[in-house]
Amino acid sequence: MDYVLTPPRITSAPVAGTARRFPVHRIYCVGSNYQAHAQEMGRTGREPPVFFMKPADALLPVESGEVGRLPYPSLTHDFHHEVELVVAIGEGGRDIPPAEAQRHVYGYAVGLDMTRRDLQAQMKKRAGPWCIGKGFEYAAPIGPVTAHAQAAQIGAAVIALNVNGVERQRGAIAQMIWNVPQIIAHLSAAWTLAPGDLVFTGTPAGVAAVERGDLLEASVTGLEPLRVRVV
Ligand code: MN
Repeated sequence: MDYVLTPPRITSAPVAGTARRFPVHRIYCVGSNYQAHAQEMGRTGREPPVFFMKPADALLPVESGEVGRLPYPSLTHDFHHEVELVVAIGEGGRDIPPAEAQRHVYGYAVGLDMTRRDLQAQMKKRAGPWCIGKGFEYAAPIGPVTAHAQAAQIGAAVIALNVNGVERQRGAIAQMIWNVPQIIAHLSAAWTLAPGDLVFTGTPAGVAAVERGDLLEASVTGLEPLRVRVV
């Protein structure tokens, strides 16, 4: 193929225990998927799921054992952390029933849905799209993907985030309003899922702002942790 420009590189995430990579197609996100966070954002938690996307090149892959560098973004004075379980799709499909969702999952990772909260709030007020609050460069830090077979207890996992050694967020994967098979069913009714898609599954309560110099340590039991420093 002869292109008029150098084609963009393929975004990828590390895979735990191997030098091979997980190539990224799309990044889907679920909003308000934990009751307490839905309430802190002014929702009841009983609404149907809200989906939004980040561009694939918003991913900030962090290698095993490393601390990623997360640049403080432009235009915001309220840069928020949201620790999330990320589902890595290995097999695509559409209209996937919840009972069949599991075989579409390659694995799981720890992610951060970083958010320019002030810009998102402005857009909510104007009933505008959230892109400027959610879809900027480096807005999706992610740790290594662990294959499903090595993460069989994910449904019983604890999800947490520490900032500078102090706990900010803690929840249980079992507290999700929409569980992973239900999310895949809803998503695949609206879009055709493809191998390489990532799904950020929502954050527990406790979202708050970070500043330059802060060290974020995100964890989900059974997965490799994700560490980034805001620079
Ligand atoms: Mn989120």
